[in-house]
Amino acid sequence: MFDVIIAGCGPTGAMLAAELRLHDVRVLVLEKETEPVSFVRIVGLHIRSIELMAMRGLLERILERGRQRPAAGFFAAINKPAPEGLDSAYAYLLGIPQPVIVHLLEEHAIELGAQVRHGCAVADLEQDDDGVTVELADGEQLRARYLVGCDGGRSTVRKLLGVGFPGEPSRTETLMGEMEVGVPPEEIAAKVAEMRETDKRFSLGPAGVGVYRVVVPTAGVSDRAVPPTLEDFRQQLRTIAGTDFGVHSPRWLSRFGDATRLADRYRVGRVLLAGDAAHIHPPIGGQGLNLGVQDAFNLGWKLAAQVRGWAPGTLLDTYQAERQPVAEDVLDNTRAQMELLSTGPGPQAVRRLLTELMDFDEVNRHLLEKITGIGIRYDFGAGPDLLGRRLRDIDVKQGHLYGLLHRGRGLLLDRTERLTVGGWSDRVDYLADPTAVLDVPGVLLRPDGHVAWIGDDQPDLDDHLSRWFGKPAN
Ligand SMILES: Cc1cc2nc3c(=O)[nH]c(=O)nc-3n(C[C@H](O)[C@H](O)[C@H](O)COP(=O)(O)OP(=O)(O)OC[C@H]3O[C@@H](n4cnc5c(N)ncnc54)[C@H](O)[C@@H]3O)c2cc1C
Repeated sequence: MFDVIIAGCGPTGAMLAAELRLHDVRVLVLEKETEPVSFVRIVGLHIRSIELMAMRGLLERILERGRQRPAAGFFAAINKPAPEGLDSAYAYLLGIPQPVIVHLLEEHAIELGAQVRHGCAVADLEQDDDGVTVELADGEQLRARYLVGCDGGRSTVRKLLGVGFPGEPSRTETLMGEMEVGVPPEEIAAKVAEMRETDKRFSLGPAGVGVYRVVVPTAGVSDRAVPPTLEDFRQQLRTIAGTDFGVHSPRWLSRFGDATRLADRYRVGRVLLAGDAAHIHPPIGGQGLNLGVQDAFNLGWKLAAQVRGWAPGTLLDTYQAERQPVAEDVLDNTRAQMELLSTGPGPQAVRRLLTELMDFDEVNRHLLEKITGIGIRYDFGAGPDLLGRRLRDIDVKQGHLYGLLHRGRGLLLDRTERLTVGGWSDRVDYLADPTAVLDVPGVLLRPDGHVAWIGDDQPDLDDHLSRWFGKPAN
């Protein structure tokens, strides 16, 4: 009997496993694939995800494997520099391939004590009052108190639950792969320059010694269950560029669409959904992985609290209440970006207008904060603007604020030196720091770094400690 079974060890599942292990929850991750997926699907980690890595002590490991780039040019690929003074200590994009992130997060989860079994596909589930029975494709049955479907856009768990996934189907599909070419680099460079002058969707760029990454549209929307072949790439290259560049020896080939869908529920009893299992959208802006990892970060401590028995009654339901609107917003901004990439005269006119508007700092900042996840404000009720937002990493007496959040506990930052976490000290840390760079007397942070309370009144603080962290220990 496990506390939590996670279906899928992609970025979302691995992050969730690690978060749960911070609270000693017995976790089993079941991953259908035996080998790690090799294809590269990611441009980078956005600011909020980099902050999460810093909050769990993973920053150095991740930085070693990625490349820092300016945090700009994401919205519909409109080329504008990032506004000055972004509200983060980590105001850059970290270019890092998805397989590397998955590997790092899985390694981290295992170090913390999660069990991960590869080659195990969840095929069926049944829940009752005490838990969930999970059946694998080979008939083996496993039992846990909760199950989380982090099993991607075609989620078996979501389908078994009968959760609706309304939205729009793919209108266009794209082929992407890495392969060797049979022509000299100068010939490729000349063709790429020529294609840049057209409005054709085409990209061919170096991806290692002698290897190129090819991106071309498919001939039509196909049955995505069928993997693409090298011949598909050749044909499309000939149609679009007039030559297939002699491509051969593929490293990997993939196909993706622009379907946009959102699960109508994130929880059915003891089974929850996170990441692509709950939402899919086109990759423009590079937000999907970031969104999934942030779902896991929001869910982890709440599900752990439920398992450990201290969760206030509605805590677990705040997961959907907080994260579904964030996904809705991402779906909408990708819909808008896709329109702005259309080549018709109308969308192109809107694009030119938005490009002009982005010269206004506020517009540029708003769009960037949206894409990078640092503009998110959860609805915790009426209060100052900071309430419900995440707090940036700031200098504190002991070094950096995020350095104090590695264990995934709450934190009271007290500039008055009069407040206390009292009977919640087993769940919430306390830091008296009159020097902290904050213009508020006291701040209560949840384990995900979002501001749950601001003030200097102890009884009011106690109410909020109860709201988020349950009953005091004594
Ligand atoms: C071309 C492209 C570029 C992208 N670029 C970016 C980017 O720059 N930035 C960004 O943030 N996002 C990007 N994305 C999106 C990102 O790849 C996804 O959002 C991300 O992979 C979602 O992570 P996940 O863990 O939720 O799901 P997945 O990565 O799909 O992982 C799900 C896992 O579950 C496993 N699984 C499936 N079914 C079962 C089962 N029945 N039992 C057990 N295991 C199962 C799968 O094998 C898989 O390992 C891009 C996507 C594409 C296609």
